[in-house]
Amino acid sequence: MDRPTDIEEDGNVSGQVPPRSGRAAQPARPTQDEAEEAVRTLIRWAGDDVHREGLLDTPARVARSYVELFAGYETDPRAYLERTFEEVGGYDQLIVLKDIRFVSFCEHHMLPVIGKAHVGYLPNGRVVGISKLARVVNGFARRLQIQEKLTAEIANAIQEVLQPHGVGVVIEAEHSCMTLRGVNTVGSSLTTSSLLGEVRDDMRTRMEFMRLSGA
Ligand SMILES: [Zn+2]
Repeated sequence: MDRPTDIEEDGNVSGQVPPRSGRAAQPARPTQDEAEEAVRTLIRWAGDDVHREGLLDTPARVARSYVELFAGYETDPRAYLERTFEEVGGYDQLIVLKDIRFVSFCEHHMLPVIGKAHVGYLPNGRVVGISKLARVVNGFARRLQIQEKLTAEIANAIQEVLQPHGVGVVIEAEHSCMTLRGVNTVGSSLTTSSLLGEVRDDMRTRMEFMRLSGA
């Protein structure tokens, strides 16, 4: 039987926002208008008047900012690691990129998680452009996350695609849901780590990674 041609399979009838790639099982993405209406509801819920001048364009701005803040859903961060270089002059020591700043959002409160990641790997004959490591971090960060999962996803992506001898990821981040509300622990930060292969199992490599990452 022929596929129906009069129905847009992705349900994206407004054309304002691109459909999400690789997420076919997801329900249709809301339109920008629906997103703006949801923001209006939250403003009213907070207790303000959506019709006052200063708030008139706020729903549109918030919806647009979500496109940027949650850009991670549009990318497969693993793809950044596919282009590698093999002319490394026999370099076989740890490569560590430290202090990769990121903004993520806690999936429990949708409040910002702001921190830095230190990412290292022990190459196995091929290396990746250093900016790609930062792109991988941001690709996974710009989603609703918990820090533990973010840490593991970055490490696992590098391990699976680059297949190095080992990977180390350490993340230190401040969670607004703790510092702005709730227990109000201003200045506290959460540290998580995911160590794989020789970075986990070889004591000297592990110490070297910790020293280079400053974590
Ligand atoms: Zn939270």
